[in-house]
Amino acid sequence: MNLTERDLKVIWHPYTQMKTAGVPIPIVKGEGAHLLDENGKRYIDAISSWWTNIHGHAHPYIAKKVAEQLTQLEHVIFAGFTHPTAVELAERLLAILPANQTKAFYSDNGSTAIEVAIKMCLQYWNNQGQTRTRMLAFKNAYHGDTFGAMSVSGRSAFTAPFDSLLFEVEFIDTPDAENIDRLKSQISQLRSQLSCFIFEPLVQGTAGMVMYEARYLNELIAHCRKENVLTIADEVFTGFGRTGKPFATSHITEQPDIMCFSKGLTGGTMALGLTTCTQEIFNVFLSDDKLKTLFHGHSFTANPVACAAALASLDLFLAPATAENIERIKNAHAQFAGRIKHHPKIKAVRQTGTIIAMEWETGDNTSYFSSLRDRLYYYFLEAGIILRPLGNIIYILPPYCITDADLNYIYSKIEQALEEI
Ligand SMILES: *Cc1c(COP(=O)(O)O)cnc(C)c1O
Repeated sequence: MNLTERDLKVIWHPYTQMKTAGVPIPIVKGEGAHLLDENGKRYIDAISSWWTNIHGHAHPYIAKKVAEQLTQLEHVIFAGFTHPTAVELAERLLAILPANQTKAFYSDNGSTAIEVAIKMCLQYWNNQGQTRTRMLAFKNAYHGDTFGAMSVSGRSAFTAPFDSLLFEVEFIDTPDAENIDRLKSQISQLRSQLSCFIFEPLVQGTAGMVMYEARYLNELIAHCRKENVLTIADEVFTGFGRTGKPFATSHITEQPDIMCFSKGLTGGTMALGLTTCTQEIFNVFLSDDKLKTLFHGHSFTANPVACAAALASLDLFLAPATAENIERIKNAHAQFAGRIKHHPKIKAVRQTGTIIAMEWETGDNTSYFSSLRDRLYYYFLEAGIILRPLGNIIYILPPYCITDADLNYIYSKIEQALEEI
């Protein structure tokens, strides 16, 4: 049996209808922005392996640091104990995050980073004797697949089987010049019941790379602060350079109370989640009363190997070459956007930093399940490019090390697809 056949016998894949899905592609090696399959076919990873990879696959520097850590200390319980990589990572990250972020809480992935943030907010009020359980989120938000994270995500086909069990959340539109005053008064009306406002800053990835302007987010955060509503910036996707600056919140002056990270945190090497918060939030949990403790943790909280990968990724991220690469991709995307925006089959093109998204004209209603999606997906796979359209929306968000030649190849294949599909 080859690998695919063995897979089909034992594996249940994520987000995959196992009855109708095509067979999975067996990847045996990663190299920079490329992935190689069993037969030696090369693919350009134009979506950074579900938005996680920032420095390229199997990066030798991260591999070296991880290997060193594995022979030094692979894991230790993080309650009652600590270790150097967790402390150094928190120190170095807090130094580049907004100045109000002073404490780091580790977990395992993006969804758990969100769960921790939600629990921090709910218990922040609870510890002060206030019942504030409602939350505010954007329509079509995506914050993860665990129950709390699902609850603050927009209701969709993904959540439908569980909708009756999700907790109550107020969903508001993403802000623009026209609705900003209305959104602010919605917040004011609910303020005494709201525990927090959670948002994906600047780009709603899963919604279809929906983008909104930094200045209106700035206004919303300022308004929440005025109304005493805590704010959570979900930087799980946007963190570490995706939006052209280190963090999406680097584009604004207001500082969120809580921030969540995962995906690019380890350079896409392995799972690690991080939730940071202000001293003010942390202080509300300090008490002689044990019941005020944040009772949350995972077996692998602050795993030393994952922290070592994150530290290595941070070294690479802070090197000048990475900022230059981000700038290069940003400019290349902008030129490409200019070239195709008037194409009759393109309904809209939008870009934030290294993320570019194109909405395909379909004439009728479109959905995640549209057949166009599959045609596009397989068209690009055939051409050796991994793109994973969200319905009729194609997006490119490559590892920052992608070459100009690879970028131009992706652009030219998209232009070709516009003529052929
Ligand atoms: C991917 C994602 C999550 C969930 O992270 P996982 O590691 O997949 O659980 C949360 N928020 C945003 C914005 C994401 O893109």
